[in-house]
Amino acid sequence: MEGIIVKGIGGRYQVAVDGQTYDCAARGILKKQGMRLLVGDKVVISLDDYDKSKGIIESIQPRTNALVRPPVANVSQVLVVFAVKQPEPNMNLLDKLLAICAYHQLDVVLCFNKIDLDDDHKIDDIKKIYVHAGYNLIPTSAKNHIEIDALKEALKDEITVFAGPSGVGKSSLLNEIEEDINLEVGGLSKKISRGKHTTRHCELMMLPSGGMVADTPGFTAMDVTEIDLEILDTCFIEFLPFIENCKFNNCMHIKEPGCGVKEAVKENKIHENRYESYVYFVKEIEDHRRYKSW
Ligand code: GDP
Ligand code: ZN
Repeated sequence: MEGIIVKGIGGRYQVAVDGQTYDCAARGILKKQGMRLLVGDKVVISLDDYDKSKGIIESIQPRTNALVRPPVANVSQVLVVFAVKQPEPNMNLLDKLLAICAYHQLDVVLCFNKIDLDDDHKIDDIKKIYVHAGYNLIPTSAKNHIEIDALKEALKDEITVFAGPSGVGKSSLLNEIEEDINLEVGGLSKKISRGKHTTRHCELMMLPSGGMVADTPGFTAMDVTEIDLEILDTCFIEFLPFIENCKFNNCMHIKEPGCGVKEAVKENKIHENRYESYVYFVKEIEDHRRYKSW
């Protein structure tokens, strides 16, 4: 049977197969090969002849990716969470995070939480930038349970990790989603003791719709300098159709004449804030390179 590891502690792994979990050990050979099993790993298991709730992990399927923080394999998307206020959104940080996700070929769902506090409709300007850029943006309120269903829909059939600054409501949103799970499994007590923070490990929460969510918010280390300068432009997803209009193949879209990207900014096809972030990151990466070559 093929399943996904949703939890691993002390050499025991919970492997989910069609919504059912099996308590598994790993074949010794996997350890000998130096493979560290991660939650999210797709594995082949065989069941114990006597106790059908137990099994053995026979092999691991190739990974599409493996994150370090949180340690999860085969992540298909990142739920990037910011708040409309409290704390004020740092758009430079957001653009950095979006670029890094694109660089790692991770899909993004963008969530602006605390919409209940948005008296002055800041979300409209935010939409102008990010919906226009092509992002799936969901304005939510964990407090008032707004758009939690849309969030659940976006998490369907994916392995998702949460990202974003602290205080924006990531845990609150996770709790809202988790609460629904607990209701749907018939009022079971919260089995995931995330609140206690006694153990540092990452689990995948299984959503009834088939999606899975890492219960540890991750992606906090946001170092844009890991991105190659040559492909930074492609990490701004809405630049892509305009890059091919550039006169020079290696156009950095800064000072070059005949630049399709700058042209698109002028024509409001690319939002100037996004372009400013791009220019800012180019500088940051260049400075980092200079520093390294000293
Ligand atoms: P995290 O650090 O991103 O996990 O953020 P938390 O979930 O711990 O939330 C930080 C604070 O924001 C807490 O005091 C929450 O009660 C509050 N909060 C979370 N979501 C909302 C929301 O939708 N609206 C409002 N007004 N407050 C919220
Ligand atoms: Zn250009």
